Amino acid sequence: MSVNQQAHAGPPYGQPQPGYQGYQQPAYGGQSLPGVPQSQYGAYNGPMPGYQQPVPPQGYFPSLGFPSKGSPVSLNSDTSSLAPNFIGSLRAPPTSGAPPPASGASHPSGHLAYSQFEHGDVQNGIPASAAPMQRPPAPQPFLPGSAPTPVSQISTFQQYGPPPGSVQQLRNHMAGMTIGGTAASAPPPAGLGYGAPRPPAMPGPPLPGQTVPAPPSSQPNHVSSPPPPPPPSTMAGLHPGPPMSGLHGPPPPTHPPQPGYQMQQNGSFGQMRGPQPNYGGAYPGAPNYGSPPGPPPPPKRLDPDSIPSPQLNELPPQQKPRHRIDPDAIPSPIQVIEDDRNNRGSEPFVTGVRGQVPPLVTTNFLVKDQGNASPRYIRCTSYNIPCTSDMAKQSQVPLAAVIKPLAALPPEETLPYLVDHGESGPVRCNRCKAYMCPFMQFIEGGRRFQCCFCSCVTEVPPHYFQHLDHTGKRVDYYDRPELSLGSYEFLATVDYCKNNKFPSPPAFIFMIDVSYNAVKSGLVRLICEELKSLLDYLPREGNMEESAIRVGFVTYNKVLHFYNVKSSLAQPQMMVVSDVADMFVPLLDGFLVNVNESRTVIASLLDQIPEMFADTRETETVFAPVIQAGLEALKAAECAGKLFIFHTSLPIAEAPGKLKNRDDRKLINTDKEKTLFQPQTSFYNNLAKDCVAQGCCVDLFLFPNQYLDVATLGVVPYQTGGSIYKYAYFQLETDQYRFLNDLRRDVQKEVGFDAVMRVRTSTGIRATDFFGAFYMSNTTDVEMAGLDCDKTITVEFKHDDKLSEDSGALLQCALLYTSCAGQRRLRIHNLSLNCCTQLADLYRNCETDTLINYLAKYAYRGVLSSPVKTVRDALINQCAQILACYRKNCASPSSAGQLILPECMKLLPVYLNCVLKSDVLQPGPEATTDDRAYIRQLVTSMDVAETNVFFYPRLLPLTKADVDSDSLPAAIRNSEERLSKGDIYLLENGLNIFVWVGVSVQQSLIQNLFGVSSFSQISNALSTLPVLENPFSKKVRSIVDMLQGQRSRYMKLIIVKQEDKLEMLFKHFLVEDKSLSGGASYVDFLCHMHKEIRQLLS
Ligand SMILES: [Zn+2]
Repeated sequence: MSVNQQAHAGPPYGQPQPGYQGYQQPAYGGQSLPGVPQSQYGAYNGPMPGYQQPVPPQGYFPSLGFPSKGSPVSLNSDTSSLAPNFIGSLRAPPTSGAPPPASGASHPSGHLAYSQFEHGDVQNGIPASAAPMQRPPAPQPFLPGSAPTPVSQISTFQQYGPPPGSVQQLRNHMAGMTIGGTAASAPPPAGLGYGAPRPPAMPGPPLPGQTVPAPPSSQPNHVSSPPPPPPPSTMAGLHPGPPMSGLHGPPPPTHPPQPGYQMQQNGSFGQMRGPQPNYGGAYPGAPNYGSPPGPPPPPKRLDPDSIPSPQLNELPPQQKPRHRIDPDAIPSPIQVIEDDRNNRGSEPFVTGVRGQVPPLVTTNFLVKDQGNASPRYIRCTSYNIPCTSDMAKQSQVPLAAVIKPLAALPPEETLPYLVDHGESGPVRCNRCKAYMCPFMQFIEGGRRFQCCFCSCVTEVPPHYFQHLDHTGKRVDYYDRPELSLGSYEFLATVDYCKNNKFPSPPAFIFMIDVSYNAVKSGLVRLICEELKSLLDYLPREGNMEESAIRVGFVTYNKVLHFYNVKSSLAQPQMMVVSDVADMFVPLLDGFLVNVNESRTVIASLLDQIPEMFADTRETETVFAPVIQAGLEALKAAECAGKLFIFHTSLPIAEAPGKLKNRDDRKLINTDKEKTLFQPQTSFYNNLAKDCVAQGCCVDLFLFPNQYLDVATLGVVPYQTGGSIYKYAYFQLETDQYRFLNDLRRDVQKEVGFDAVMRVRTSTGIRATDFFGAFYMSNTTDVEMAGLDCDKTITVEFKHDDKLSEDSGALLQCALLYTSCAGQRRLRIHNLSLNCCTQLADLYRNCETDTLINYLAKYAYRGVLSSPVKTVRDALINQCAQILACYRKNCASPSSAGQLILPECMKLLPVYLNCVLKSDVLQPGPEATTDDRAYIRQLVTSMDVAETNVFFYPRLLPLTKADVDSDSLPAAIRNSEERLSKGDIYLLENGLNIFVWVGVSVQQSLIQNLFGVSSFSQISNALSTLPVLENPFSKKVRSIVDMLQGQRSRYMKLIIVKQEDKLEMLFKHFLVEDKSLSGGASYVDFLCHMHKEIRQLLS
């Protein structure tokens, strides 16, 4: 009897299953605030009858152990080459294991008990800087191999095309250029620009302002803006440059070249970087500024020679003035980052003060929690928010918080303390259900407390009573984390659990595609080998000796194979389910096991899988049934968990969720472009909903050789809080190290399950919009089947009433989740912000990196429903309004020709331009539809540090590195003219690391770094740097390792030789330059923003 024929009577997938009530609780712990929609998620307060465990439909689980079908002789035709019994030598039966320990109610010692909490000594350790996150020990180190064969060209870039304009187009662009007319307007006073004082002209405290010198500037004023960072009460203002009147408008044809006008060389290589013909192309004068100039042309070999690069004196006179803005005189990201490091990197950031703007994400600093959540957990677009809605609308500054509830901390900082209030659970406001926090006011001698969010007065439970000191503070203030710290955890009571039952420990299920491509590439063998050791590194709680997580294994192509790895078996058993239309799990007992107990059987299975499918001819795969199988297995085991799916191709086999190839690059720049980002069927949305209800998180590892519709396959990972990893054209020798690092980190990292997050706020504002990888069934609760330490949720706030300057505004983020040992917990983060009635205060306390994080996520969601051009235009317009409002209301009166930027936002234009030029909003010719969908989803979960380096990559001159120190060489700006052909540079953006080698690099450096004797011998197929015993090689490799350690994903290393064809890919990341896909240069974009601002002001 074959399992294949096994029929069952379960209901069709996707329909409501009997007995499963899901998240149908009526309320979120009692009454809710008026106007706030009630939660469907439940039991925050008191027993909730609504949760019912899913009852397996009849026929799903015939019996424990699956008696007849579960016999070891159940292989189907797909594996017919195998012996009926599992192959492999017989081993002694492992000692039968005890059932996995039930640890639902245990209190593992991972977190410090609050009794250990000392007065004022919540942090320990000395300030240490530059502490990259510790990588867990790699169980099975893969040494960087020697140079791979040259044939392993990185195929991703094979479809590499020319710039989106032919020479003729470029000429057309040149003809259309209108920028530069400004030059005639005012002679440039040399030496003016940054740094010169601008008299304060505003009532009240002077504002920092940034004046960008108007064109034409003559000699570059190397005065970088050195305004002391916050508090920005000092005058950073600057004498304006010459008025920028006539910024737009045709240039006077007879304008003579300004003396000293030439572009800065700055160590540039090659010919002088005069006006490039493609410079300024799509930008000024082009009515459709916000969109690319047109659909990308068909891929074509790029010939650098086809791009004319006339010298300055070859150009018609009217084009010369285009370079009147000195790139060194416009705000420099590098300078801002450096200034912040110098000013704020040495002192710990102490969170005791309301509304403090933290140091930048690029600054290494230590945090001391004294009542507000660390910026590692929450960052805001502004720390001083308008009191009224009108003021907020006027400024157009979005009010948003970027929240990373389970963020990893450097070892010097203390994890949130775990507070156990026993059976009564955490103390909460009776009305809004906010949790006890440092901002609650105790009154009446400590018998009651007034809620800091809704002002409701609540009785203090008798067990929680404490006297107040003369200042009104409880005398146990410092003994209780929830009274003195910004972040802490509560142990949740059974009332916070589904079905009023403490959860079981979660499970990990590994689901491996064993179709032809996966087997042939060596992937299946690689995964199996890795899992043998990786399973010993599953997340464990605190000091627990072993992980409580159980594991299970599935392989699949067109059919699914389940494995019984029960410890009492001598050999694993396979059960095949070929009826994928109605997925069920053919075994219960022995599918999810404890690693230690079933070690021998698991090892045997992992040895056998690659052999079993070695000769497979099956090329087709299913996908949705794989997720369904994992979901059903977790349902049957009554636990949450994570599916690790390793998948290679578009699932075209006949099955639910079957997909077709609908990739169509012709849709780019049309109104239908949005469909490329949308899933092609709603099937996966429904599946995701079911997964979230069960706490089934999906992590997807993709290994595509062609289009596989990331936009659709990514729906379930995305909505369940999971991750997607993509290794296009996976090749064992070049990509295994990266993949294995990602896999190890993904398996080992801290993760919570069955999570629900709610953000409460002071009366006056409320959370209105959410961005990230999650599911929402109502308007307030963010649900995530899984939430790991890397995932970020961005929350936008809007006014619904007035705020007051006195009380400020408070946020409280409460995350209810199940720990990796099955413990139900609440993690609380509190943050207090200032409120203002003066716009100037708002602009003084903004954080541009966070603003960009929000704007990028907002735009990346927008492309799902609007044409990309509309999204781009809206972004530009909003930022222009933000800056125009500042100019109008906060800056001192000055000529309309001046561009004046708020000190805190002086990088807004350059960063915004990077977002506009990103592959999602303006795809380069090499960006595939899958790449764009992938990036779109990645960015949506990024924290501020990740978006910062993603949009403005870090560029380091390696040849300037001091081999005797641990420090990094000083970063330089992302522009080609900053590169010297005699140097080697590293560029990283969180996904890739490029090592760019100039054509004139000394031979000794090449020898030391690459182990070859000449430039021409450097292979750009290298995926790692060779291990050579010399100081330069060691230094560079240590830099690369350090950067890898700072990022949540292992970055792909790409060697780029100057003038090689891969160089165009690299240049895509030189984001201050004009991009091949039509993106404006920083200088051009700044002029464009200025124009937009002036239009708004006029
Ligand atoms: Zn309240």
